[in-house]
Amino acid sequence: METLLNLPYPVTVTFVFLFGLTVGSFSNVCIYRLPKKESVSFPGSRCTACNTPIRAMDNIPVFSYLILGGKCRSCGEKISIVYPLVELVVALLIVAVFFKFGFSWEFLIFAIVCPTLVIITMIDYEHKIIPDRITLPGIVLGFGAGWYLAGPINSLLGFLLGGGLFYLLAVLSRGGMGGGDIKFIAAAGALLGWQKVLLVIVLGATLGSIVGLALMVVQNKDRKTQIPFGPFLAVGTLIAIFFGEDLISMYLSTMTV
Ligand SMILES: [Zn+2]
Repeated sequence: METLLNLPYPVTVTFVFLFGLTVGSFSNVCIYRLPKKESVSFPGSRCTACNTPIRAMDNIPVFSYLILGGKCRSCGEKISIVYPLVELVVALLIVAVFFKFGFSWEFLIFAIVCPTLVIITMIDYEHKIIPDRITLPGIVLGFGAGWYLAGPINSLLGFLLGGGLFYLLAVLSRGGMGGGDIKFIAAAGALLGWQKVLLVIVLGATLGSIVGLALMVVQNKDRKTQIPFGPFLAVGTLIAIFFGEDLISMYLSTMTV
């Protein structure tokens, strides 16, 4: 599976990127509809302002936004730049997955996981929830993929360690930790195993503290301001996926010196 149909490498990368854009387009649908408990497969995309169905030729990721000048063809209402940005970020992540893993089981797994992390980030940022429709299938798929990636025992340990730690934090902080965060980290643990889920938690907590402190300084926000934890956990998970092995072996080598 080294090369797809023996195409030149740049052509293969271009195909992966275009595939990534379509996944990014579907990610936008999920970001917009999952919090409203709407179907992600039906009906087709509509303008969020005038509700006019979007024609196929106006629904091409990123390119349609550029051609339409960021405006709806029917009502002329501005289309948020967030849509093409999500498509672009998802596409670049999928290309990064391809660079790291080539065409492999890992590619298949993380080409699903990485867009899901973007979806979680956007929904949690906007609505302060991580929907069960993502986390519950995520736990099941996490075990399935984790069995292959980390081994069944490591996968189970990751699930128990991640979920258990966050459950404990939720009890101790009396609601300071959301149920969505617990299910999310349990799924990440099942997928990545116990070492990497610890890494995710350390990275997420560190990033969250830095951004939280920066916001307190810049916006003069007090401690009561709720910053969703999901986006930081998602970024931590992405770092663990791409650099987890290196970071863990770096950490272990400093321990043994
Ligand atoms: Zn419109």
